[in-house]
Amino acid sequence: MYQFRKGTELLNLCQRYELNIDEIMLRCEIEESGQSRKQIWELMQDNLQVMNDSIIKGLDPDLKSAGGLVGGNASKVQFYMEKDNLCGKTVLKVIAYALAVSECNAAMGKIVAAPTAGASGILPGILVALSEEKGYSQEELIKSLFVAAAVGKIIATNATLSGAEGGCQAECGSAASMAAAAAVFLAGGSPQMSLDAGAIALKGLLGLVCDPVAGLVEVPCSKRNGNTAAIALTSADMALAGIKSFLPFDEVVEAMYRIGKIMVADLRETAAGGCAITPTALRYAEQVITQQND
Ligand code: SF4
Repeated sequence: MYQFRKGTELLNLCQRYELNIDEIMLRCEIEESGQSRKQIWELMQDNLQVMNDSIIKGLDPDLKSAGGLVGGNASKVQFYMEKDNLCGKTVLKVIAYALAVSECNAAMGKIVAAPTAGASGILPGILVALSEEKGYSQEELIKSLFVAAAVGKIIATNATLSGAEGGCQAECGSAASMAAAAAVFLAGGSPQMSLDAGAIALKGLLGLVCDPVAGLVEVPCSKRNGNTAAIALTSADMALAGIKSFLPFDEVVEAMYRIGKIMVADLRETAAGGCAITPTALRYAEQVITQQND
């Protein structure tokens, strides 16, 4: 009754039942999983708690990733956002928190894959920063996670969330799409506006390749979480300003999948192209191999 595979179907359900995306997603999950509303709500509440904890851990200035390539960057932005800056505090807080979760992940901390570990910073970065800056309640944040989940479900059903299959557009692109839709929901936008924001964010990241240096989810992944979180936020604001995506959300998802299909293997998590084969990256990869053999 509340099942959907496409954005158009989701919007039809919202219209038919006069509900927003969060409630349709929650009812869909109740139907699919057989779990109670309370159980599902509590699971999402736990996810939010893990997101909060990973932000706190990631803001530690002394944190170092397993590969030693990232750590402490979130703390730098947190310090900088209180000074004279270019983006303003809200955007910088989103970036700081997105970096924090990503650095927590790279340091083998506990994160929520949203939708993947590599792209785990974007959604919590936006939601937690916005709750602090705008005063959204915990209940509103949990509801917004259901909005993000609905967007992620549609992308997973009709395309892919995997960097190995579709490049980083499928990981960071999908995360930005989910986060943009959730941010619109928090700000009081309509279901259509949420999907417009999701489409705008994903379009902005189409073609993004997956090219982790030495195969580690550190460079360029971590900073990519920071800047794609900013793309998600600006996409949400564009939709809230009344800008519609010329291409419907479902068609953007299909386009992303088609691009992923024709992306060469070197650019899909093999560390054989893009950033991963720059001279600096190759020198670092050589060092890692030497250390492993010592
Ligand atoms: S570059 Fe690859 S591994 Fe890194 S976040 Fe993007 S998809 Fe994930």
